[in-house]
Amino acid sequence: MVVLGAGPAGLVLGNLLLDSGVDCVVVERAEAAQVRTRARAGFLAAHTVRVLQRHGLDEGLRRRGQEHGVCEFRTADGGFRLDYGRLGRGERHTVYPQQELVGDLLTRFVGRGGRVRFGVEAVAVLDADTGRPSVSVREADGRPGGFRARYVAGCDGRHGAARRSLPAGSVRRYPCDHGVTWLGLLAQAPPSMDAVGYAVHERGFAGHMARSSDVTRYYLQCERGTPAGAWSQERIWDELDLRMRAKEHGPLERGPFTQRSVVELTSDVLEPLRHGSLFLAGDAAALISPSAAKGANLAVLEAELLALALVADLLHGDPTGLDSYSARCLAHIWRAQEFSHWMIGLLHGPSGRDGGSPFHHALWRSRLDSLRTSRSRQDWFAEHYVGV
Ligand SMILES: Cc1cc2nc3c(=O)[nH]c(=O)nc-3n(C[C@H](O)[C@H](O)[C@H](O)COP(=O)(O)OP(=O)(O)OC[C@H]3O[C@@H](n4cnc5c(N)ncnc54)[C@H](O)[C@@H]3O)c2cc1C
Repeated sequence: MVVLGAGPAGLVLGNLLLDSGVDCVVVERAEAAQVRTRARAGFLAAHTVRVLQRHGLDEGLRRRGQEHGVCEFRTADGGFRLDYGRLGRGERHTVYPQQELVGDLLTRFVGRGGRVRFGVEAVAVLDADTGRPSVSVREADGRPGGFRARYVAGCDGRHGAARRSLPAGSVRRYPCDHGVTWLGLLAQAPPSMDAVGYAVHERGFAGHMARSSDVTRYYLQCERGTPAGAWSQERIWDELDLRMRAKEHGPLERGPFTQRSVVELTSDVLEPLRHGSLFLAGDAAALISPSAAKGANLAVLEAELLALALVADLLHGDPTGLDSYSARCLAHIWRAQEFSHWMIGLLHGPSGRDGGSPFHHALWRSRLDSLRTSRSRQDWFAEHYVGV
C-alpha cells in the first residue's frame, strides 16, 4: 500500500493500516521538520476526537487539547453569544493545533516501525485502472524512483500527484469560488476572548480563534489579489480592532504575527473518490473553505473509512467497503459543504458578493436574527457547526 502525503489524512490512514498489519509506505514531499510545524487547523469536531480515541491516537490531544463550546457574533446591530456546547447534540470542539496532531501521528507511526519517505515527491500515479498501480517519484536528490502496490491512497492535498493523475473524464469536478479572500494570521498573543469571535462589518469579516494560551488565529477579509505582506502589523491590528468592535467589547491582545497567508475561499469536490486502485481522501478528495473549520475533520473521517475498507479487502477479501467508500464520504462532504457555504453567507453579509444589494442585506439580517432568537435554529447551527 502506498500512501501519498503525511497530513492528517495520510497519517491517520497509515497508523490504522500499520496497526492492522497492512504493509504500507508514506511518501511525503516535505521534510519532517516542516510537516511537524505547519500551522493550519485547530478546531477538532467531537467525531474526530472519537475516531482518534477509538484507535489510540489521542494521547497528546487528551493531555494538551482544550474543550471549547462558545462562539460570539459581533455586528452593527449588537453582539450575541451561542453556547453551542449546550445546544444541538451537546457536542463541543477540542482545540488542538493541527501541527501537534500531525506530530503525534508521525511519532506514533514511526515509533511502531512505519516507513515515511520524507523529501520524496510523488510525480504521478500510473496504471491505476489495473490491479497493480505504481507511483513514480522524484527522490530527495532529484533522481527518479518509484513504488508499486496493490492500492494507492492519494492524501496529498489539492495540488498533489493523485488529483493530477486522474485521466480526463474519469471523475466529475465540482469547483466553486466563493468570491471572498481572507488574510490568515497567526499571532503570538493570548486569545482576547473566551469564544470563537465572528465580526461581520461593512469593511469586511474578521475572525478570532484561540489556538493555545499564547497563540491566536485571526482572519481578516481583504481584497482579492492583496499580497500576504501588504499590510503593516499596526494596520492589521487597527483594522482587527475596528471590525471586532474593540471600543464596545474590549481591546484585543496584540503581539507579533508569526505567520501570514492568503486564503481564497474556494471549494472543489471530486466524484467519485476512486479511480480503479487509486483512492482519494482529505483535501485531495474535496477542498472546503475554512469558514466552518471542516477540512481536517473530514480528512480524519475519510481516512478511518478508507482504512477499515482497505483492511477488509486486503486481509479478509471483502471489497464492499471499498465499493461504497466514495458514496459514504460524499454524503458527509456535501453536508459539510452546504453548512460551510451557509456560514460564508452569514459571515460576509454586508461585505460579500451580494453585499451591495438591499434585498440580500435584508436577507442576511434576517438570517442573523433567526440565529439570535430561534432555539431550533440554534440547535441546527450547533449540530452542523461541531459535526461532520
Ligand atoms: C489557514 C488554514 C486554516 C485552517 N483551519 C482549519 C480548521 O480550523 N479546522 C479544520 O478542520 N480545517 C482547517 N483547515 C483545513 C485543513 O488544514 C486541511 O483540510 C487539512 O490539512 C487536510 O488534510 P490532508 O491530510 O488532506 O492534507 P494536508 O494537510 O495538506 O497534507 C497533504 C500532504 O501531502 C504532501 N504532498 C503534497 N503534494 C505531494 C506530492 N506530490 N508528493 C508527496 N507529498 C505531497 C504535503 O506536503 C502535505 O504534507 C485550514 C486550512 C488552512 C490553510
